[in-house]
Amino acid sequence: MKIGVLSETVAGERRVALVPDVAAKLTGFEVTVQAGAGAAAGFTDDAYREAGAAVEGDRARLAGASAVLLSVQPPPLADVANLRSGAVTIGFLQPATQAAAVEALAARGVTSFSLEMLPRISRAQSMDALSSQASLAGYKGVLMAANRLGKFFPMLMTAAGTIPPARVLVLGAGVAGLQAIATARRLGAVVEAYDVRPAVKEEVRSLGATFLELELEAQEGQGGYAREQSEEFLTRQRELLTERVAAADVVVTTAAIPGRRAPLLVTAAMVRGMRRGSVLVDLASDTGGNCELTEPGEVCEVGGVWVDGTTNVPSTVPLHASQLYARNVTNLLEHLAPDGELKLDFEDEITKGCCVTYDGRVVSERAKQLMESAAENMRR
Ligand code: NAD
Repeated sequence: MKIGVLSETVAGERRVALVPDVAAKLTGFEVTVQAGAGAAAGFTDDAYREAGAAVEGDRARLAGASAVLLSVQPPPLADVANLRSGAVTIGFLQPATQAAAVEALAARGVTSFSLEMLPRISRAQSMDALSSQASLAGYKGVLMAANRLGKFFPMLMTAAGTIPPARVLVLGAGVAGLQAIATARRLGAVVEAYDVRPAVKEEVRSLGATFLELELEAQEGQGGYAREQSEEFLTRQRELLTERVAAADVVVTTAAIPGRRAPLLVTAAMVRGMRRGSVLVDLASDTGGNCELTEPGEVCEVGGVWVDGTTNVPSTVPLHASQLYARNVTNLLEHLAPDGELKLDFEDEITKGCCVTYDGRVVSERAKQLMESAAENMRR
């Protein structure tokens, strides 16, 4: 079966869906990558050739010849037009914001799988690209803050005096938040964290951070995720967090609700309450941001406080992001096509969970809901 990997075209995207090491281990598949596809992540065309893959210069021909197209971002409409009916795509399809791509794939008769829709069950952990990429974001988010902060992270006792450790506050202790906590602790900061799911309390503590106990009800939803919170809840949460935000040198926000805009945790007034030189890194900026002042894709300075809204943070660690992503995507591929032959079992929770288009239709109810609620938000 022919696997195709095209260069990513979204601005700033440096990842590639398949890396040479992982391509070399695929058996039963014939891999072709577009010339230059791995360049921004540090992989040369020669490295792919040495791994046994072919390199093709003509993008349209490669798309047309692929039985399975692997990508990070949703395939652009121009590429969808070149795919064969019955071809398969695997990648982040982002149905909430990419309705046109989803509809084009369905109309073209392409079977598409979206990694965001993968059920988060233990059997699917090795395919969980949301987790692998969130973990990179949590790590890099702390480094971005440390780089901008005019202070040391660790406590230092020097002949010139004692430097107290930096104080880091992490809001949202899911995959990204826990990695942010671990990274900040490794750099020697004193770390506090908060999440609306008290289930994470022990994990936060085991990383050497303090779990903030706020007088708020738990907001545990389904599947280990948070549920959407009321405006009343969020207002109260912001009130209770104001003093902790003001005490922090660094705030890293990672709070998210699947398929929804990120909840607003830090207002402009709260940022104004922070000391000059402090840094807020908003890792939820791709879904609107947790801070009122976040400008997605920008770093702004407001009253001496930096608000970093860098989007697509995993892409800033492109080599390891691509390596982990390639393992996730090929694990899913091998699940869908054991021994190199496509065997789609729609009774299987993983296959059913992440299949978005099949046989000319959008088959995922969840994808349809996300597309409808995004359209509704646009109308408002
Ligand atoms: P996410 O990116 O959707 O959200 C990040 C965090 O933000 C979550 O912990 C959420 O509770 C938190 N949050 C939401 N609203 C908040 C608010 N107002 N204030 C503070 N925090 C808020 O979640 P995620 O990191 O992708 O994963 C969340 C859960 O899924 C975790 O429990 C994780 O262990 C679980 N998970 C399970 C598997 C698996 O079993 N295969 C894989 C990955 C993750």
